[in-house]
Amino acid sequence: MRAQTSLSCDVLVIGGGATGAGVLFDLAQRGLRAILAEQNDVATGTSGRYHGLLHSGGRYAVRDPESARECIEENWIVRRIAPHTIEDTGGWFAAFPPDDPSYIPLWLAGCKAVGIPTEPLSIAQALREEPHLNPGAYAIYRVPDAACDSFELIHTLIEAAAALGAITLNYHRVCAIEKAGGKVIGALLENRRTGALVRVHADAIVNAAGPWAGEVAKLAGADIRMTHDRGVMVAMNVRWVNTIINRLAPPGDGDILVPVGTVCVIGTTSVVVERPDDLDIPAAEVTQMLDAGEIMIPEFRKARALRAWAGVRPLYDPPQKREGEADGGEDGRYITRSFRTLSHADVGAAGMLSIVGGKLTTYRRMAEQICDEVCAYLKVQAPCRTAETPLPKPTWLGGGRGKLHVLSHRLHQLEHAPRHDNLICECEIVTRDQLEAAIRASGEGVSLDDLRRDLRLGMGPCQAGFCGYRAAGVLSEVAHLSPERAIQALAAFIGERFRGNRPLLWGHQLRQALLDEMIYRRSLGVPALQAQVQAAAS
Ligand SMILES: Cc1cc2nc3c(=O)[nH]c(=O)nc-3n(C[C@H](O)[C@H](O)[C@H](O)COP(=O)(O)OP(=O)(O)OC[C@H]3O[C@@H](n4cnc5c(N)ncnc54)[C@H](O)[C@@H]3O)c2cc1C
Repeated sequence: MRAQTSLSCDVLVIGGGATGAGVLFDLAQRGLRAILAEQNDVATGTSGRYHGLLHSGGRYAVRDPESARECIEENWIVRRIAPHTIEDTGGWFAAFPPDDPSYIPLWLAGCKAVGIPTEPLSIAQALREEPHLNPGAYAIYRVPDAACDSFELIHTLIEAAAALGAITLNYHRVCAIEKAGGKVIGALLENRRTGALVRVHADAIVNAAGPWAGEVAKLAGADIRMTHDRGVMVAMNVRWVNTIINRLAPPGDGDILVPVGTVCVIGTTSVVVERPDDLDIPAAEVTQMLDAGEIMIPEFRKARALRAWAGVRPLYDPPQKREGEADGGEDGRYITRSFRTLSHADVGAAGMLSIVGGKLTTYRRMAEQICDEVCAYLKVQAPCRTAETPLPKPTWLGGGRGKLHVLSHRLHQLEHAPRHDNLICECEIVTRDQLEAAIRASGEGVSLDDLRRDLRLGMGPCQAGFCGYRAAGVLSEVAHLSPERAIQALAAFIGERFRGNRPLLWGHQLRQALLDEMIYRRSLGVPALQAQVQAAAS
């Protein structure tokens, strides 16, 4: 195939999730010329659809000690290098009446064995700190869990890599891997916005495509047995707790509640699906999450369920298991959350390496291991320094060294800002200045949904009801959009926001959805305008 543009680099990284972004930064820091190709915007895969937990490892302490150890070790590192992406909520493991007390000594021993600190807490103290917690809890331990904003982490890594000369090509899908003489020599990318083909010459390729790793490996003629494990999560419109609550029981459905920004998220389910992009949200799984929430917070359902979404875990189920790894099961919980690296030299694709499995919490360690292997292949001697290198905040959030994120940060900034008239998104406190800076930093073709990931625009309780049209106005002005493109941008954004509300249309959320419908459909007439734009274009 003839490509219209051609680029060259030492290493091509495929996938703009936490793993790929971590790999890009690590390579750039070692002085390698690296390009990352992402088929959509960065953080649109599993990393942008996860539960939000920087794991202490407690969840895996009994059944998956390797992953538990990786989590606790990386937890300390990520807090140090990217504090602005972390809210140090702390976490509790709490046993409630349905939970088997015989699990507690096993869990404590597992935590001790891998170095996870645990501290018992009296129920009276716990209820003082978290008054909504089920008072029937009979054992509670503190662990160093935290909440992590994956969008901010990934943008931070991409920007830090760019500052070292790395390139990120968003909306570029790798559609072919090129090989010669038993090794990879590059890949062909399709620009999904223009249809143009780009050839990237590369001496090595890292497949960090998460749940799509099997599809990408196939492009090189390799076969990776991935298990796609879908999980559904539900965001409630209030922060029922300020601490992450885990059930003190073997991992199960809906057993973790995470405070994220102004809301809290209950999750997740675990259902093995065929495709990496199967993001269905079955009504039964939503009900299951709300039921599970009530075990931890008896009044859970009294809050409004705001949004439901799903993500697919990129689990690797090796044909030959290591000692101690369990076998079979209808969900993916038996598969380790540790990670593996795979070379594809056996199919004439030397220099192509895949990284599979793992957790968002362990992205840095995954990157370190695969970059060590890439360097060995390229015969480059450059040690990994990512564990010691602090990452600056993204420029549109002010840049510079950050501190641990505190929920009141944005409000504090707003209250102390010279002007108070530029708030675009009240729920997430996104200002016009931040929005304009993010639009400029993103360049041509940026969508409102891309800006949502940059700034959390439209992610709060009104789900873009009030900020969607304001943001479309700012985008249109700053990016000089034609009226037609501005309408398309707004329609796409509210359509995407509505997708996550659809499984939750009852009670107060139905009222909110009807209000949004009145604003967009009846007052602004967006669907009619969109139809006119489409008719004029055809
Ligand atoms: C429901 C759920 C909850 C979770 N909760 C947690 C949690 O609380 N804490 C935690 O640590 N972990 C959690 N995880 C696990 C964690 O989210 C994943 O392990 C991690 O995000 C995977 O990151 P990744 O970069 O490997 O994959 P992804 O984020 O999926 O990135 C892969 C990227 O590759 C791109 N891509 C695919 N094919 C191509 C191609 N041909 N060309 C170009 N680009 C391509 C995709 O678009 C995608 O953006 C959760 C997972 C799920 C599903």
